[in-house]
Amino acid sequence: MAATRRSTDDLFRADVAHVWHPFTQMADYAATEPLIVDSAEGNWLVDTEGRRYLDGVSSLWCNVHGHRVPEIDDAIRAQLGRVAHSTLLGSGSVPSIELAAKLAEIAPAGLTRVFYAENGASAVEIALKMAFQHWRHRGQPGRTRFLAFANAYHGDTLGAVSVGGIELFHEAFRPLLFDVLRAPSPYHYRCPDGHAGHEECGRHSLAVADRLLAEHAGEVGAVILEPLVQGAAGMITQPPGFLAGLAEVCRRHDVLLILDEVATGFGRTGTLFACEQEGVAPDLLVLGKGITGGYLPMSAVLAGDAFAEPFLGAPTAGRTFYHGHTYTGNQLCCAAALANLDLFDTRDVVARGREAATLLASQLERFEELPAVGQVRQRGLMVGIELVADRETRAVPDPRRRLAWNVCLGLRRRGVLIRPLGDVVVLMPPLSIRPEE
Ligand code: PMP
Repeated sequence: MAATRRSTDDLFRADVAHVWHPFTQMADYAATEPLIVDSAEGNWLVDTEGRRYLDGVSSLWCNVHGHRVPEIDDAIRAQLGRVAHSTLLGSGSVPSIELAAKLAEIAPAGLTRVFYAENGASAVEIALKMAFQHWRHRGQPGRTRFLAFANAYHGDTLGAVSVGGIELFHEAFRPLLFDVLRAPSPYHYRCPDGHAGHEECGRHSLAVADRLLAEHAGEVGAVILEPLVQGAAGMITQPPGFLAGLAEVCRRHDVLLILDEVATGFGRTGTLFACEQEGVAPDLLVLGKGITGGYLPMSAVLAGDAFAEPFLGAPTAGRTFYHGHTYTGNQLCCAAALANLDLFDTRDVVARGREAATLLASQLERFEELPAVGQVRQRGLMVGIELVADRETRAVPDPRRRLAWNVCLGLRRRGVLIRPLGDVVVLMPPLSIRPEE
């Protein structure tokens, strides 16, 4: 006999009693009207009351083709019929091999090696540890430091938080973190150094990075950047040439470049990977979120042969990379990722995402003139609408008004599910969003 369905009220009571939600003030959550997702269809989520919501932030920036995609569903089912999980520690698996070969084929040239993890933060952690160990094996053990940017976000584990630069999220943990060299963010709307122009602000940011690397010559192993857009800081876009400029600075100082494409990867900014737009191939490329089309938790770090070569040696030579997770390279995740990447080939997903972004840009013009809108930022299907108390002075809204949050709550009542970042209303629909949606 089918179990009777629990009512939304009943589920919500259990939710509040037992589930500790991420990035959520639970006292506030308990006092807000419940939204409990029950199912989904295409770009829409359906709650336990049968209400439909457009998935306006791609279920936290990871959904690509919408929900319940037959090809991905089938691939996971087929893999379930073989094996759900076995370890990659010392043994292989068919889908993890196929996926690594596929990623090597589609990634910027030279990135041939794939190390898997389950989330963006772990992959960033892996990239940092790999960069650190790489220099030890190259006879430069003094290169232990990293350079990162203000307003960066790379995830919530302690290494990722160390290179992160968002006060609200990261400041409380400062005593636990390692010290990082910090260059300013090219956030010209609120440039702390007074550079009003986007390109000028970007040039200043690069000049500081350059100077810091010169001052700390031989100490820095790698620079880490979210290319084209700093996502979690509120979709802060970089001026043209910023990424290529940074790559040149890294080359000049013989420092590794780690690009964190957890958010920007898989078509989000108009190309499969954001770094393609400036012809940059990093030493380490960090991928996550959209890698499985938004289906299952998976991430990866891609490296080149020359980067990986110093890790080779006898088992006793101390060159092994001692890092891994129980579910590293899980077969169901790999199967979902392979089906996802097949869809990129067969459905022209990136080009369709670009068309959607062009339409979105024309629709966003209406917001530019609103008195509460300070700046509208867009790169492909990543959009941030920064709200202000006063357009002239750019004064930030009174935090107690929770302006962006209330905009999102209002939209939720109108059937659109989005989440703000501070004072920034974020739009990041799936690449499959249709014009009428
Ligand atoms: N890097 C970037 C650029 C991100 O945007 C995020 C998540 N928003 C992460 C890393 C962390 O990924 P995860 O939440 O999967 O750990």
